Amino acid sequence: MPSHELTASRDEADAAGAGAVRLDHVTHRYGRGGEALTAVGPVDLTVPAGEFLVLVGASGCGKSTLLRLIAGFEQPTHGSVRVSGTGPRPGRTAGVVFQTPRLFPWRTVRGNIDLALRYAGVDRALWPRCRAELLGRVGLEGTEKRRVWEISGGQQQRVAIARALAAENPLLLLDEPFAALDALTRERLQEDVRRVTDRTGRTTVFVTHSADEAVFLGSRIVVLTRSPGTVALDLPITLPRGDIGAEELRGSPEFAELRTHVSHAVKAAAAA
Ligand code: ADP
Ligand code: MG
Repeated sequence: MPSHELTASRDEADAAGAGAVRLDHVTHRYGRGGEALTAVGPVDLTVPAGEFLVLVGASGCGKSTLLRLIAGFEQPTHGSVRVSGTGPRPGRTAGVVFQTPRLFPWRTVRGNIDLALRYAGVDRALWPRCRAELLGRVGLEGTEKRRVWEISGGQQQRVAIARALAAENPLLLLDEPFAALDALTRERLQEDVRRVTDRTGRTTVFVTHSADEAVFLGSRIVVLTRSPGTVALDLPITLPRGDIGAEELRGSPEFAELRTHVSHAVKAAAAA
């Protein structure tokens, strides 16, 4: 790429904010002709840098499709997707966490993290420090030598999150990452993700069908209609962030009120 283009795209990134997401009139259709199915859109959505956006909606409304469009794994049929001011590059634009952790089960925790560090182009001399920091962030200290198949589902998902954080890119995308976990593990991981993203200031787009999870995590919630998913509700969440006790937050009247509001909105949007 000629250097002036690089400069231009950097300027664009600075103007948009690193990790900022912008969807302009995005539609996504699977298949062609009579078999075609419009899964998403039209959606207009701007996510400023540093925001924690939660996408909520019933199963099949197009949440995963939207996330894959932002990651660059899919191209929109119409409209445009921009991340940090440029088109997303699959595997480069965002750290992505899926519902089932996509790890190498025969490798150790350390082996999985190191692969991510290598892929991210981190200097090998820095790996031990980076690895220790990443494992500390997701509460996996002391598990480096365990094989992935030996650790619990919750721990595996923690490895997947650490791997997504390893890339150090300013955008983190998570697609129902805790749906398969037991309630207690899910709550712990929610607390960790909230804390980690608050601390690192990453822009985050998190998909869930749970109103409870959405209200706990998000600084903003977007509820989608049933397929083809469009924006039914766009709600800023003003609950305190930073060093707030999770129990206190979950037990507050404001939390309960928001959860009811979002839960009703999700049901109404799914029925509309
Ligand atoms: P959600 O994540 O909200 O459950 P998805 O984005 O997975 O929704 O799916 C939205 C719609 O698109 C659904 O009707 C689903 O069947 C369809 N769909 C998803 N992926 C594909 C695909 N690869 N090919 C064809 N249809 C798909
Ligand atoms: Mg999905």
